[in-house]
Order: sequence, then structure tokens, then C-alpha cells
Amino acid sequence: MYPRLVVDLKKLESNLDAVAKITKEEGKCSLMIVTKGLCADAEMAKMVAGHKAVDFMADSRVMNIKTYADEARKNGKKTVLLRIPMHDEVADVAKYVDLSFNSELSTIRLLNEEAKKLGLVHNILLMIDLGDLREGIFYQNEDLIFETVEEILSLENINLYGIGVNLTCYGAIIPKNDNLSNLTALAAKIEEKFNIKLEMVSGGNSSSIYLVGKGELPAGINNLRLGESFLLGNDTAYGEKLPGTVGDALVLEAQIVELKEKPSLPIGEVGVDAFGQKPYYEDRGIIKRAIIAVGKQDTDIDSMEPIDEKIDILGGSSDHIILDVTKSDKEYKVGDVVAFTLGYGGMLKTATSAYVEKAYVK
Ligand SMILES: *Cc1c(COP(=O)(O)O)cnc(C)c1O
Repeated sequence: MYPRLVVDLKKLESNLDAVAKITKEEGKCSLMIVTKGLCADAEMAKMVAGHKAVDFMADSRVMNIKTYADEARKNGKKTVLLRIPMHDEVADVAKYVDLSFNSELSTIRLLNEEAKKLGLVHNILLMIDLGDLREGIFYQNEDLIFETVEEILSLENINLYGIGVNLTCYGAIIPKNDNLSNLTALAAKIEEKFNIKLEMVSGGNSSSIYLVGKGELPAGINNLRLGESFLLGNDTAYGEKLPGTVGDALVLEAQIVELKEKPSLPIGEVGVDAFGQKPYYEDRGIIKRAIIAVGKQDTDIDSMEPIDEKIDILGGSSDHIILDVTKSDKEYKVGDVVAFTLGYGGMLKTATSAYVEKAYVK
């Protein structure tokens, strides 16, 4: 059935090989693969859990981690929760997650209690904000960082596994040698002040991997967390393709339900579209317009590219996307399938939509 998301597991695996080579061999970092972009799809998770180079399997939602925690642990991978836990979910975090990212002592105290109940020690990574202004203790506030570390170290069922940073998410700040060096310097200070060894200094997501190729990843960084670069092959700092990866491991396919020659400019007074936006229309004269049965409820129309480069996406509404197929070499007809590669937003919505089926290439 269409619309469907075709997940090419062989291509994903070779993307994983490629990012593993950069991260582990060249970057001397441990590899954390992030599964949230594909909603922790079970087939993908199985492949990742079985891959030798993967050290950690991470997601932002405990609900997703639950689905593969057994499989990951059986294969010697640690499970990781990326989003700062809700007070509400600490019991599940202690149970299914081996390492959680944290920035709030009240939550860490609750995790300590839950870990005690289970008779285990829960690992946490303390998040430091280097200026992107999403999660983490602000790096300039060293007093607060040290106070927090001190209390964490006093908790019996919590282990301070390391510190980490997230960039290029809210503030769109690009990781560089200089800002990441603030993290490694801080790690050294913590180790010296408290006479401890931090197992992990995690230097960011798919926007940090380009630094390996340039030889600019600071020496103290020993972990990278990769979602988009594995799933879509993207370096997300500058939008380049990473060597050895492909961008079509995930393809959205949708079926044409109407094909008509009509004008390109709507007729009548222009108000707002289905989403309250005032649209802009380009006059292309009379064109061949194809409607495909997929819409904004299923995907992000600004985050998908027709594989047939001569097709243009004109726009869409909840359940329809309208294409200009005038220039295509192919004579499209109703019932034909049109395929698209996806950007991050398109991938996320497509993987989340209950209306998009999945098909696998194994
Ligand atoms: C989503 C997320 C990642 C992965 O980001 P990508 O850009 O997909 O590699 C890494 N770390 C944190 C904290 C995240 O929330």
C-alpha cells in the first residue's frame, strides 16, 4: 500500500560502516547511533544492535528505547536516553536505560532512588551548554557545574559517566575546535578537582563529525552521537554528504490519484491556504499537474526531493501534494508511483505518520 517509506537496510548498514570508519578509526571516538529519526524502527534497530562498530544505542524517548533495550544489551551495547528525563518517567529510565543525559539535580536524585530500588547503579552524562541554548548547565557558570558534580558524586546509586554537549539544534551553533575545547577543558578541571576519571566526553551530533575529517576535533572528545549522518548521510554543520554514505537509504513513495492540465495560477481572490498561510504562486502557464495521495499529515513538503529531477513540488495540504510533471521525460499517468528522498523533517514526519506504511529492502 502507498504511501510507503522504503527502508533500504543494506544502504543503512553501509552508511553505518562509513560513519563508523570516520568516528572510530579516524576520530578515535566511541560510536553512539541515534534511532529517533526513524522512530526506532524495529528492523533498523535490529541491524544497529547487530553491528560490531556500535557502542551505544540512543533515543530521545524511553518508549522507543524500551522496544530494543533487550536486543541492544544482549549485543553488548549500552542504551542511552538523550532527552533530559521527565520526573514522571524515572522508573522506566532506571530500568531500560544504561546512560541518561541530565542537567537537573532534582531529577538525578529521583533516578538515584529508582536505581536503589532496582539494586543498580545508573550512569548519567551531565549536559553542558556551550551556547546553543537548549539543554545543559551554561558553561560559564562553573560554580554551578562543580556544585552539581559534587552532589552527583555523593549519590550512591548514580555514576557520573561523563559530560557532553549538544549543538546545532536550537541555536544552530556550529561545533568548532574552539567551542568544543571549552568542553574538554571543563572535563579536565572536573577530573582534577574531584580526582575522578570521566569515561565519556561526548562532543555532539551529526554536526560534529565533519571536524574529524578536518583533523579539528579536540583530543579530549571521545564520543559522537550520530542520527542524521547515519540515516541520511548528512554532515549537518555545512550540509555536505559524508564520504561513503548515500542519501537514498530512505525513500518515500506515493501514488498519483489525479493528473490534469490546468493553469498554474489559482483563479479568484487569494485568501489563506489550509494552514492559514498566504501562498505565493508562480505563473508557469498551463501545466501538467499531478496530485499524489500523501500530504502534510504524513510528511514535510519542504523536506523532500523528487528522485525524478524534472518534477517540481508546487505545494500541498493535509492529504495531497501537487506536483508539476510538465517537464519530466516520463509520461506519468494515474496510478504511477512517484519517489522522493527525504530531509530530516520529512523523514521524521514520514516515520511518525500512522498513514505511511514501511517496506524493507534487505
Ligand atoms: C537528536 C540528538 C542527537 C542526534 O542528532 P543528529 O543530528 O540526528 O545526529 C544527538 N544528541 C542529542 C542530545 C539529540 O537530541
